[in-house]
Amino acid sequence: GFKCGIVGLPNVGKSTLFNALTKAEIDAENFPFCTIEPNSGVVPMPDPRLDKLEAIVNPERVLPTTMEFVDIAGLVKGASKGEGLGNQFLANIRETDAIAHVVRCFENENVIHVENKIDPADDVEVINMELILADLESVEKQLQKVQRVAKSGNKDAIKQKELLERLIQHFENGNPARTLELSDDEWKEVKQFHLITNKPTMYIANVDEDGFEDNPHLDTVRAIAEKEGAVVVPICNKLEAEIAELDDEEKEEFLEDLGMEEAGLDRVIRAGYELLGLQTYFTAGVKEVRAWTVKVGATAPQAAGVIHTDFEKGFIRAEVIGYGDFIEYNGESGAKEAGKWRLEGKDYIVKDGDVVHFRFNV
Ligand code: GDP
Repeated sequence: GFKCGIVGLPNVGKSTLFNALTKAEIDAENFPFCTIEPNSGVVPMPDPRLDKLEAIVNPERVLPTTMEFVDIAGLVKGASKGEGLGNQFLANIRETDAIAHVVRCFENENVIHVENKIDPADDVEVINMELILADLESVEKQLQKVQRVAKSGNKDAIKQKELLERLIQHFENGNPARTLELSDDEWKEVKQFHLITNKPTMYIANVDEDGFEDNPHLDTVRAIAEKEGAVVVPICNKLEAEIAELDDEEKEEFLEDLGMEEAGLDRVIRAGYELLGLQTYFTAGVKEVRAWTVKVGATAPQAAGVIHTDFEKGFIRAEVIGYGDFIEYNGESGAKEAGKWRLEGKDYIVKDGDVVHFRFNV
């Protein structure tokens, strides 16, 4: 599965967001360091296509695909030097695939801000700088090791050394790894360095109910993100926490009253999905209709491997119907009659929404 880490300064609304995402009951209290353990929750990916498939197939159950969110607490100025929960935090964040960086864009005298002022630019800078410093330290260690090998004339080590030195320069200029211009081959190399700042990142601007428009804090976050080529998802976490308590019907009414098309949380989950270059394919049988997550560009055997590694190893063929065809021709037999049922081999690149049945040897 894919993991998205939620980071941000204390009291910006991380736990509120996390709780709404998972509907888990974790205290969101008005104190820095309140969430000490890294909390993780598996969140269903909303997908209206599942309802349409269900209506046609009438399965015993329907299962959405998921994304894991991890609430990573304890990041403050000096974390990379071990302040606060420094090192523990950094270890947790290294294990994630993407980062959701929550920035406080709401004013509230009753909620203490760690730096005693609402200043999104400064907040973002504090967090990003800690992450950059952590990467800098890690890269310097790796450079020491590589240097020894490079001295003996090893070509790979020399290349690595040069790359590490470029990264160090970039970090020392205060930039995250993701903004360094590198070739595809170099990016592959960089992956092995296990950095934090090359993870795809989105900014979650936590605004008040009336803070979606004419909000200078939100504008600030947008400007920062634009420079980095990052996404911004404006959301009112407090409102989302309330929405998360409602059942589906109440939720729809509530959203309609607010003039919102979907819950902000759904936008967060979707943004995470896009950030990671993910797509969905479906399996649709009478027992179960189910959505699965694969990387864009995954082959049929790789997609099969998401269900079970044996499916990938023993892959023979994939029976495929495009989602649109499946709906238009009212299911498998209709699609077959219309000539929209295909048998694909191991080189087939799975498309978003494909309805797939795998044939495999065990
Ligand atoms: P964390 O330390 O980043 O996890 O922050 P919390 O989620 O614990 O939130 C800190 C405080 O801010 C809590 O009292 C929340 O109720 C409050 N809070 C969170 N989001 C919002 C928001 O969008 N608007 C307002 N007014 N308060 C919020």
